[in-house]
This record gives sequence, structure tokens and C-alpha cells, in this order.
Amino acid sequence: MISPRSLSFRLVAWYAGVLTVTFLLLGGLTFVLMRHYLEANLLDTQARRARQIAATLVAHTSAAREQALRGEVENLYSPEINDRFIRITRADGRLVYVSGAPRSADFDPSQVPPSPASSARGATRKVRLASSALLIGSADASAADGTRYRVEVGTSAAPAGDTLTHVLVVLAVGLPVAVLVAVAGGFVLVQRALEPVARIAAKAEAISQHNLSERLPVVPSGDELERLSIALNHMISRLEEAIHGSKQFVADASHELRTPLTVMRGELESLAQDEQLGSETRETLGSVLEEVDRLGEIVESLFALSRLDAGEAHAEWVRFDLAELAATTAEQMSLLATDKDVRVDCDSAPGVIVEGDRARLKQVIVNLLDNAIKYTPGGGRVRLAVRREAGFAILEVADDGVGIPAEALPHVFKRFYRVDGSRSREQGGAGLGLAIVKSICSAHGAEVEVVSTPGKGSRFRVRQPLAADAAGG
Ligand code: ADP
Repeated sequence: MISPRSLSFRLVAWYAGVLTVTFLLLGGLTFVLMRHYLEANLLDTQARRARQIAATLVAHTSAAREQALRGEVENLYSPEINDRFIRITRADGRLVYVSGAPRSADFDPSQVPPSPASSARGATRKVRLASSALLIGSADASAADGTRYRVEVGTSAAPAGDTLTHVLVVLAVGLPVAVLVAVAGGFVLVQRALEPVARIAAKAEAISQHNLSERLPVVPSGDELERLSIALNHMISRLEEAIHGSKQFVADASHELRTPLTVMRGELESLAQDEQLGSETRETLGSVLEEVDRLGEIVESLFALSRLDAGEAHAEWVRFDLAELAATTAEQMSLLATDKDVRVDCDSAPGVIVEGDRARLKQVIVNLLDNAIKYTPGGGRVRLAVRREAGFAILEVADDGVGIPAEALPHVFKRFYRVDGSRSREQGGAGLGLAIVKSICSAHGAEVEVVSTPGKGSRFRVRQPLAADAAGG
């Protein structure tokens, strides 16, 4: 279905409108000119014939020979058979001759009004009768004895009218057909011309910051569309450069910050051990050290994210058992949980083989478990489960902690997003943990999603394809 707002519809509608108006004007003009030409032609013929009769017959007659004149006209012109009107009138108004009813019965000669006295020699006129119109040409002549006569010759306008009606029918049928054919042709042409637009739009829709190296199709047609796609491709190139530049900046900055932070940390640690310092100073040093630690973690997270953005996750690709990795990670993390009086249960049957960067997938489990433990109050429970499901490895981390409000759910995987800034900061988070989870998952072709009920708990679910030959078993 074509939308009335689409470019092709609007173009074709304009085109059809302009074409219809042009055709109507052209048709109207043709009709008017043709009618004029036909009538003028017929009138001219009648006038010529009237002049002929005047010159050849009337000029040689006289008042006494009028009877003979009638016979000659009948013989030479047979007006009734030729559907012609002939009338000869003397200057004093007496009717000398009038033809009978024509064979076609188009007009009644007795009803033709007398020629206007003022009508000049050779004049023509159109007379409307009850049934049809009569086209009359007239000529004046002087007989041999000086008597003046007026000769009128006419013919019915009906045959010319019939011809015009035919022309009108042809125009009435032909014009809409011509408009339809032209519009259909125009529509096909416009559709064909705009077809690359749909392809460019589909491709543009598919390009995101993750595949910025791709380009829009360029149809080498030399037209505006080619220029448009080339211009858009140049724009994508510039965007790609800019994004690459800012990614590179984050990577360089986080890399450069690591060493001074490590040095600072070391110096602060040795300073804090100095027995000569007062307890207050040592306390301040302790909290500065905490902040430096936090800063260090943020810098490490940023560095990890920038390496993931650069596609480094593929460097250490191995096959391994995700269930086993989950079990050992849960065991390591449960120490942290015990401090908080949170229980970590792991439910994973070995043999969930996946392919990927083992250290980074471990990071996913660590971040999810860390959050679950962080946001679950003492006495709570965290469950980690790994299983196979229709060719996929499913990893789930569920807790019965504080949960996430519905309005925050779509944002938790964004960089530096924290549901409750103050709450999260107290717990030491900068809002990068889940962003790292998301990046690692994307690099492994995995999806991560979350369902949560505030006050009841959250469940994070990672769905990753099983290793190629492990999927069937
Ligand atoms: P942070 O390091 O600050 O925890 P994350 O990216 O790991 O950052 O998480 C983003 C936000 O999602 C956090 O601020 C936190 O409020 C919320 N969140 C993550 N996991 C959980 C969870 N298991 N329960 C409740 N809230 C969570």
C-alpha cells in the first residue's frame, strides 16, 4: 500500500494533475478550432456557390425569364437530392425560387427567415431553425434587364455537428486513457528511480556505532541519489574517525593513569605505616587510600571497556566448561558473601561447553555475583545457575535483595549509570560493572537481560551460544 505522503505518490499525483489540465486545455482548444474551421469552410463553400449561381444563371435572366431560371437551378443543382437550400429573391422582396424539403429532412426551407436587407454581397450567416442550424452564403446579382436579385445557398450544420460529436467522443474516451497510461508509466519510472532510497534507508537503519566501518550502497547513476549516498558515506567516515578518536582517547587516558595511581597507592601505603604520624593523619591517609583504590578500579574498568571496544576479547578464544567456571567463581566469591551474611548457592551441572575468552567471561560472573551480594541485605540468598537450553548456555544470577525500579531497568547496562548514586557510591560502584558485562556478552554473541522487582530481588540472565560441536549433544 502506498502512503499518500510518500514522495512517489505526491510526484505522480502532481504529474497526473498537470497532465489532466494540459490534456483538457488541448482537447478543448482542438474542439473549438475544429468547429470554427468546419463552419467557416462550409460557409465559404455556400457563398462561393451562391456567387456561382448569381454569375452563371441570374446574371443572364430577366423578369420574364424567371420561370426558366427555376428550371435551370433545379436541373443544375438538384437542391433536394443534395440536401441543399437555394433561394432566389428579387430586390423588391418577391420570392422567385425556393428549393423543396431536402432528402435528409434536416431542415424546412419554408422556415428560413428572409435574408437581412443589410447583408452585404457575398455575406454568410448561420440561421438556427427548430431542428438544426443552417449555414447560408448569399450573393447579389443584376439580371440582364437590370432587376436585382439575391441568391442564397445553404446547407445543414447537422453533418458537421455529427463530425464534432465524434471528435468529442474520441477526446472524452482518449484523454482519460492517455492520462491513465501516462500516470501508470510515470509511476513505474518514479518507483524505479526511488528504489535505491529504500535500500539506502534500510542500510542506514542497520549501521550503528558497532559497525561504523560499513557504508551505504552507492548506485553509480550520476544523479542526486548517488551524490546523497556518497555525502552520507563521507559523513559516516567522519563519525567513525571521531568515535575511534574518542575511544582511543579513553584507552590512552586510562592506560596513562594506571602507573601514577599504582605509584600513589604504594607511597600512601608506606606513609600510612609510619608510626610517627598522628592517628588523625593516619585516618585521613586511610580514606585517601580508599579513594585512590576506587579511582584505580574505575581506571581499570575504563581500560577494560576500551580494550573490549577495540575488539580484543577475541584474542584469547578457547573452549571451556562454563558450569565449571561458574562453580569455582561462586566458591571464591562466597567468602565475600559470608562477610555480609549472604548465602551463595551454585546450581550447575558440568558439561556446558562454550567458546570464548575465559578470563572475561569469569569477569561477567564476578560482576553479576558482586552486584547480587552488594545489593542483598544480610541474611539474604544469591543463586547462581548454569544450564543448557536449546543450543544455548544459560547463566542466571538471582538474588532476593533490594531490586531495581522499573524506570531504571532499561539503563542499568549503560556506562556510569547508577540507580541510586549515593547508595551505589557507598558500596563502591561507579556504574561500570554492568556496562562491562554487556560489552563482554556482545563480544561473545551473547545476550544479557534483567528482570527485577523492587524489594523482592533481581535476576540477571546471560544467553550464550554453545560451542559449535557441543550444541547437539
Ligand atoms: P555499580 O558498580 O555501581 O554497582 P553496575 O553497572 O554494576 O554499577 O550496576 C548499575 C546499577 O544497577 C547499580 O547502581 C545498581 O543500583 C543496580 N544493580 C545492579 N545489580 C543489581 C542487583 N543485583 N540488585 C539491585 N540493583 C542492582
